[in-house]
Amino acid sequence: MLAPLPDRVDVVVVGAGFAGLATAAACRAAGASVAVLEARDRVGGRVWSRDVGAARLDLGGQWIGPGQHRLEALTRRLGVATFPTYATGAKLLDDGRRTRRYKGTIPSLGPLELIETHLALRRLDRMMAKVSARDPASSPDAAALDAMTVADYARRLRSRRARGLFDVALGAIFGAEAAEMSLLWFLAYLRAGGGLMALSEIEGGAQERRFVGGAQGVADRWAAELGDAIVLGAPVRRVVWRDGEVVVHGERGAIAARRVVIAVPPPLAARIELDPAGPARRDQLVQRAAMGAIVKVIVAYERPFWRERELSGEVVSLGGPASVVFDNCSHDLRQPALLAFVQAEAARRWTAAPDDAGPVLDQLARYFGDEARRPVTIATADWAAEPWSRGCPVAVMAPRALTSTGTTLREPVGPIHFAGTETAVEWTGYIEGALESGERAAREVIRAL
Ligand SMILES: Cc1cc2nc3c(=O)[nH]c(=O)nc-3n(C[C@H](O)[C@H](O)[C@H](O)COP(=O)(O)OP(=O)(O)OC[C@H]3O[C@@H](n4cnc5c(N)ncnc54)[C@H](O)[C@@H]3O)c2cc1C
Repeated sequence: MLAPLPDRVDVVVVGAGFAGLATAAACRAAGASVAVLEARDRVGGRVWSRDVGAARLDLGGQWIGPGQHRLEALTRRLGVATFPTYATGAKLLDDGRRTRRYKGTIPSLGPLELIETHLALRRLDRMMAKVSARDPASSPDAAALDAMTVADYARRLRSRRARGLFDVALGAIFGAEAAEMSLLWFLAYLRAGGGLMALSEIEGGAQERRFVGGAQGVADRWAAELGDAIVLGAPVRRVVWRDGEVVVHGERGAIAARRVVIAVPPPLAARIELDPAGPARRDQLVQRAAMGAIVKVIVAYERPFWRERELSGEVVSLGGPASVVFDNCSHDLRQPALLAFVQAEAARRWTAAPDDAGPVLDQLARYFGDEARRPVTIATADWAAEPWSRGCPVAVMAPRALTSTGTTLREPVGPIHFAGTETAVEWTGYIEGALESGERAAREVIRAL
């Protein structure tokens, strides 16, 4: 039998992803009573680990990199070990015509393409340095940058392959295409995470290490500390707020609270009815935040045959259907695996005709040989089809959203506060950003109690 909900607490948190857990832990530590209402039957949200063959592997967020201090400290405190992402051997670039090996960060381009790519990256770094991650709309030239999409910027790249590589990097980081994103928002996002190269790389970058037993282990252990405060299978539908009091209505009943923190992705937050409705400006902003689309395909094998050929398993493909491939073996090699990302438009096509991994296996066989056609099992997560995420890894902002609404996703509405990685000013879009946002929301709430 399900435990009854408390009638009243100091703080209700909606969502038990890393942002909701961080909010709840900080409120609890400050002496507040807390209830966390989570729609799914598990915690972790966009971080989700599942048994795939002989190991528990990640179908959602899975990497931790330098500079993600909160996540690093939490992982250490909870006793979850990490291990380096496999990056030994040559990488492959499939430019849609032929596939070649390369080493280093930027794939084997011709000398002019390389110069063009380096110049474009340096220019992006210079532009990014002028943009505020906390309040992008206050940056110099904000209106002009916000009126452009990232595609307007990418048009400067004349080489087909350099542009293709840029698009692949965007798809992997955002699950979205250059034409969907405000250039201003993109620069703020890069600023929050240390630049495009830091977000794209394995060694020294955001893909540097993985979690032994899967990233959800961190959320599970944290949730265990919060105990009964976490209520699973409890979607929230409506928040009624009056001066000094909130009532949160969900499928498991209603709870009264002094404050509520909504820690879900912006498009899903917009589906929770506020009574009375929040300010139109916030709603207009949220309407312009759209989730990216990624299908993560883990293909498990008997043997890591690519390693035997001195290949790292990493592929960048301009041909598709998967745009990026990584080695995804378990830390102890008990379960060898490759991981293929189908992203942006290709992911949306997948959602329309789901679960056909055949073209991905054909693609892997082209890179690694026929053995790639004989997996022991395949696990797939189509994040756009997940009712409580509706896309991933992050919501991207359309042009003119930030400057025309003149507000941020973080602004509270009366006693209603907002967390979630999209509201972060450090590592927006990442687990680290979710943690930062939860700590910030908890500070707001505790000040107000
Ligand atoms: C495929 C993929 C790969 C990624 N790779 C990485 C990576 O390697 N490293 C990294 O740092 N980040 C990565 N990310 C991003 C990272 O997972 C997210 O930034 C982070 O987990 C977001 O946490 P959050 O708490 O803000 O939101 P979420 O994790 O989305 O949590 C929100 C929670 O709210 C719940 N919810 C939604 N609506 C309601 C409702 N109405 N009522 C109650 N509950 C509700 C959801 O079920 C969910 O549990 C990846 C994401 C994906 C999907």
